[in-house]
Amino acid sequence: MKISQILSLDKPSLSMEVFPPKTADNYDKIAEAVNKIASLSPSFMSVTYGAGGGTSAFTAAIAKNIQECYNVPSLAHLTCVSSNKSEIGRQLALLKNYGIENILALRGDILPGTKLGNLEYHYAYQLIETIKEQGDFCIGGACYPESHPESENYRKDIEYLKIKVDAGCEFLTTQMFFDNDILYNFMYKVRDAGIKVPVIAGIMPLTNAKQVFRITKISGTLLPQRFRRIVDRYGDNPIAMKQAGIAYACEQIIDLYANGINAVHIYTMNSPDVAAKIMENISEIIK
Ligand code: FAD
Repeated sequence: MKISQILSLDKPSLSMEVFPPKTADNYDKIAEAVNKIASLSPSFMSVTYGAGGGTSAFTAAIAKNIQECYNVPSLAHLTCVSSNKSEIGRQLALLKNYGIENILALRGDILPGTKLGNLEYHYAYQLIETIKEQGDFCIGGACYPESHPESENYRKDIEYLKIKVDAGCEFLTTQMFFDNDILYNFMYKVRDAGIKVPVIAGIMPLTNAKQVFRITKISGTLLPQRFRRIVDRYGDNPIAMKQAGIAYACEQIIDLYANGINAVHIYTMNSPDVAAKIMENISEIIK
């Protein structure tokens, strides 16, 4: 099923992101976690694509398994910056062959030392153009409520986002954020810029203190004082920190639905128990 169809239903959707193993040794362990998350029947599941495309085969295989064994529509991520047109063509053929209908088209991070002049792809919109030439996929893109870390400024970031959507994006998924007001402000700017496609709010449950600092450092995402106080108080108590992190994420999700954001995507970090707890806490809300 295409994600555009799921998002057009007049009901809240709750989808989940998983990541593939880096090496074949880890495949079974990760597949087991992914299967447990799929058995919760989220609206759809996305499978990330390792930086540099290293996990490309696993992304497609896991996305196929989710659909075939759990009847959960899957969304395969695909990055382009460290690839070329023929590699992208092969990956698209594999996805089509596996029955994957949805692709999150991403540029990917530029690895240090990359010579920009040698790249075939510089931006995600160019990948979207290639995908559109090669098949009937439903295409999504990434967006950044706090703006992309490389952006000149917020206004330019939204201008480029519009170009990306016009190239053929049918939905956008946001980078994680921990203050819903940031998302509401972003939505206002996006709609003002004439971007009309559905925006799926990305929520990351932060359930241990180490993860909090690592993830916010990598993504540059703002951590509100309210959440910092939770980490100060419970960071040394793993069980309490996990409970508090899940509660914080659920509160964010409920507030989003209550304010008319109908689609939420959970960055599960392949944790079935965190995913299950969230599902349980909001089960009546997403009915
Ligand atoms: P783009 O949309 O191309 O934007 C990149 C930068 O270029 C931005 O600063 C933008 O303002 C600027 N820009 C865009 N278009 C133009 C233009 N026409 N002219 C000038 N400047 C322009 N990474 C992975 O490696 N694997 C994953 O699976 C993955 N999944 C992700 C899922 C989500 C929901 C998100 C939010 C991010 C994900 N990422 C993933 C990270 C992503 O690859 C990086 O953030 C990357 O740096 C940017 O990718 P993009 O597709 O947003 O790029």
